Amino acid sequence: MTKNITHHNYHISISDRRSANNHNSFLIWFTGLSGSGKSTIANRVEQELFNMGIKTYSLDGDNIRNGINKDLSFSPEDRTENIRRISEVSNLMIEAGVVTLAAFVSPYKKDRKNIRSIVKDVNFVEVYINTSVEECEKRDVKGLYKKARAGEIKNMTGISAPYEAPESPDIEIKTESSSVESAVEHIIEYITPKLQLKNE
Ligand code: ADP
Repeated sequence: MTKNITHHNYHISISDRRSANNHNSFLIWFTGLSGSGKSTIANRVEQELFNMGIKTYSLDGDNIRNGINKDLSFSPEDRTENIRRISEVSNLMIEAGVVTLAAFVSPYKKDRKNIRSIVKDVNFVEVYINTSVEECEKRDVKGLYKKARAGEIKNMTGISAPYEAPESPDIEIKTESSSVESAVEHIIEYITPKLQLKNE
């Protein structure tokens, strides 16, 4: 399908965009169970970056599942395709010079490995929001666990579908023992050196 596609050489490159912004661009990927705290923490990190003058954009279920991926279900195959498309969108964002934050359950290791290969290792920061299923169910922010227990939702991660926890994430946040503020601080501290432009 790609055989008739030729790349056009654009005059403005990724490094031009990064230089103009005066910061690097990469992807901060939040993975964890529904209700673990991904969006809450990602949102606060974005706010912090925005206030530092960094160009940012957040991708999440609301702007992706209702738009580009509205044709996809929660079956294993569709979850894989969901993550693949989000990775490709993230890659374009990175090329546009934007620090991109993505908050998705992304339960499969192989899918997260695929993100890393699409955006390239150097542009990928994996943040594991580690909250137990018991705590997520207690929070039940969106009422999804209740529905899953009642059998109204099939393929609910943590209940009737697996979550494969990252073995060596760049950052791990345990929300049951640390506050949102300390999580944000930890993430900002980790990414600050990554924001600096290197002389290429
Ligand atoms: P997700 O995006 O992972 O589905 P949300 O961020 O929507 O999860 O919901 C997480 C809920 O947990 C929010 O209501 C948030 O206020 C609460 N919460 C309690 N403690 C923490 C914490 N330390 N970090 C993040 N969220 C927390």
